[in-house]
Amino acid sequence: MAADPECLFCKIVSGEIPATRVVEDDRTVTFMDINPATRGHVLVVPREHSQDLLAIDPEDLAAVARAGQRIAAVMPERLGADGVNLLNSCGRAAWQTVFHFHLHVIPRYGADPLRLPWTPEPGDRDAIAAAARDLEG
Ligand code: 5GP
Ligand code: ZN
Repeated sequence: MAADPECLFCKIVSGEIPATRVVEDDRTVTFMDINPATRGHVLVVPREHSQDLLAIDPEDLAAVARAGQRIAAVMPERLGADGVNLLNSCGRAAWQTVFHFHLHVIPRYGADPLRLPWTPEPGDRDAIAAAARDLEG
């Protein structure tokens, strides 16, 4: 499967770099964002490297969308989310910082103060792990 040896998310997919993985399928891996915009913020990535929305294989894009919908669907019950933002950034001008396609799935809570784009700050590792356990059900 195509991987870029320099790519952070390829290294997460292969397991070379640790991540808090939540769910996986043949084409995708879903893991916790280390700088979560809200509690339970995850990233869905294709296993196969592609730089961005314009480069991704449409079948991988569809698989990522399905995985994003599946994890979004459990967020109300497992996290108490009231809504979800799906976000993809394509290109530096659109805030993309990691150049392996990824879909942000960001649970939203009532009147939470999040405004996009958020200012990424390292999340508390224990709190991220606890949110991942909640998401796994
Ligand atoms: P982008 O800015 O490209 O849309 O999103 C990249 C996301 O990857 C950011 O939300 C950032 O917090 C997340 N991120 C960056 N480095 C790592 C990492 O090493 N591990 C994990 N789990 N997430 C990361
Ligand atoms: Zn990659």
